[in-house]
Amino acid sequence: MCNQAAQNQQTQMRYPQILDNIKEIRENVENAKAKYRKSDECISIMAVTKTIEPDKINFAIENGLTLLGENRVQEYLSKKDEYLPQSSVHFIGHLQTNKVKYIINDVTMIQSVDSLKLAGEIDRLAAKNGRTMDVLIEVNIGDEQSKSGVSADELTELVVQAAQLKSIHVRGLMAIPPIGADESVFARMNELFLTLKESAIEGADMDILSMGMSSDYELAIKHGSNLVRIGTKLFGARKYITEG
Ligand SMILES: *Cc1c(COP(=O)(O)O)cnc(C)c1O
Repeated sequence: MCNQAAQNQQTQMRYPQILDNIKEIRENVENAKAKYRKSDECISIMAVTKTIEPDKINFAIENGLTLLGENRVQEYLSKKDEYLPQSSVHFIGHLQTNKVKYIINDVTMIQSVDSLKLAGEIDRLAAKNGRTMDVLIEVNIGDEQSKSGVSADELTELVVQAAQLKSIHVRGLMAIPPIGADESVFARMNELFLTLKESAIEGADMDILSMGMSSDYELAIKHGSNLVRIGTKLFGARKYITEG
């Protein structure tokens, strides 16, 4: 069902390395799922696009990775018109309130909501544009100073408040565990997710846990993730590092 393979054989040899990477990632995701999860669960693989040229991104889309993750507003705006139309885009980077207006009509989800102020602005602009916006609440699960995200202590309150906004739809949580984090950090994140799900807060559907990147996606799947965000393992090492 999810992560369907490409139909078009002809396009497949443009970037053989990326094609190999896609196969390997799919296989690893399937294996992790077989080992740790129920067979009817769907684990989405997102292609994280920062610094990657649109032709390569389109190659990934053609080969079935139609869900894209964007970190930076400016970079996204400069590339979006080139993306194949079957793709959909989630914003996953740190988002300043004054930049919501640039992406509100193009993305299908904002995964990086970490304050009521940001949630409120997304709600306001979604309403103005006659739509609702799916959002995830980003949790700073490693309590890192340098990272965005709400602390675990403040999470429930933010979910409750965001859930009351009419033009956003809370769909779950997103987290970036610290590099090399202990497995207990992933388990703790899953616990927070499941606890909120059980609380059944009105207006908040906890159906997505977005966790896991190139170096830890199998561990994340073990601990409940159903959306892994992959950049390096898919497209190769980035030429420069970007934050948020
Ligand atoms: C860059 C990035 C990723 C992908 O990281 P890789 O280690 O290259 O797979 C995932 N999520 C977010 C929020 C990112 O900024």
